[in-house]
Amino acid sequence: MTTPDLSRCRLAIHGGAGVIDRASLTPAREAEFRAALERIAGAAWAKLQAGASALDVVESAVRDLEDFPLFNAGHGAVLNADGVAELDAAIMDGRTRAAGAVAAALTPTHPVSLARAVMEHTEHVLLVGAGADRLAQELGLEQSSPAYFITAERAQQQRRAAASGRVTLDHDSMYNGPDPADKTGTVGAVARDAHGHLAAATSTGGMTNKHPGRVGDTPLIGAGTWAEDQSCAVSATGHGEFFMRSALAHDVHARMVYGQAGLDAACAGALGRVAELGGTGGLIAIGRDGEIALSFNSEGMYRAWVGDDGVLRVAIYNAD
Ligand code: ASP
Repeated sequence: MTTPDLSRCRLAIHGGAGVIDRASLTPAREAEFRAALERIAGAAWAKLQAGASALDVVESAVRDLEDFPLFNAGHGAVLNADGVAELDAAIMDGRTRAAGAVAAALTPTHPVSLARAVMEHTEHVLLVGAGADRLAQELGLEQSSPAYFITAERAQQQRRAAASGRVTLDHDSMYNGPDPADKTGTVGAVARDAHGHLAAATSTGGMTNKHPGRVGDTPLIGAGTWAEDQSCAVSATGHGEFFMRSALAHDVHARMVYGQAGLDAACAGALGRVAELGGTGGLIAIGRDGEIALSFNSEGMYRAWVGDDGVLRVAIYNAD
C-alpha cells in the first residue's frame, strides 16, 4: 500500500462533445452549464482531497451528472426511435482492471451505480436490457419509471430527429436544429486518487432517435471507457459507432504502453483514427503520472478539471 499523498490527486469530468458554438448557446444556458460543471467537479474534488478512492469519486461525479437534466445521461437522457430512454454506462477500476457495464437499461436511476454493481456483485462485465434492470431490482438499487428519464426538451428533440429521418449525436445542431437544449451530451469522469490509482466512468442515453436496442461505445470496455494504473484513465464522448470501430479508449492505453507515447500524443493518435472514419467527438484522460488530456475534434466539449496546480477550471468551447 502506498502512502497517501494528496498532491497525486487529479480530476476531469465531461458533459459531451459536439457542435457547441457560442452563437447557439444563450448566455443564460451557458451559465447554467458552467455552474453545473463547476459544482459537480468541485464536489468530486473535495471528495478526492478528503481521501476518497478514484473509483468512488468517478461514480459519484457521474451520478451528479446523471441527475442534471441538460446532460444526456440518467434523467434527461436522449430518446430512441420509440421515444424511450435506453441507458448505457460503464465504470473501470485502474488498480485491478475490474470493470462493469450496463446497456439498454430502462430503470436504473443512476446507471453508473448499476454498472458498478455488475462489477462488484456479479461474475460478469456487461448486462443488457431486462437483465440489467433485474439486477437493479435484486440488489435494491434505486429504480425509476421510464417517464422519469424523459424531459419535454428530449421528447421534442427526438420528434425533430425522427421527422428528418436522422440518428443524431446529441450536440450536433446541424441535425438537431438550433434549440440550445440540443447542445448537451454524454457524461464521464476520470480521477487519480492520493494513492495514484486511476478510475474512469461514462454514462449516456446514446444517440437521439437511435434504433431500439442500439448500444454505443460508452458501455463497451475499451471503446468508450478504460482505466489501468500503468497507463491512463479515459472517458470518451462522440459518435459511438466510430469509437467502437477504433477501440478508442484502449487505443490510448496501448499507444502509451506498447508505443511509449505520452498521454497527449496517445490521445491525438487515437482520436485521429476516429476522424479517419469520419467520426467526431472527444475524450478526457488522466495519465499515470498525473497529466491531463482534454481532446476533441468537434467544435466544443463540456469539461471541468483540476490539474497539478489544484485549480478547478471549466471550459466549453475550443478556446475556453
Ligand atoms: N458516445 C455516445 C454514444 O454513441 C454518444 C455521445 O457521446 O454523445 O452512445
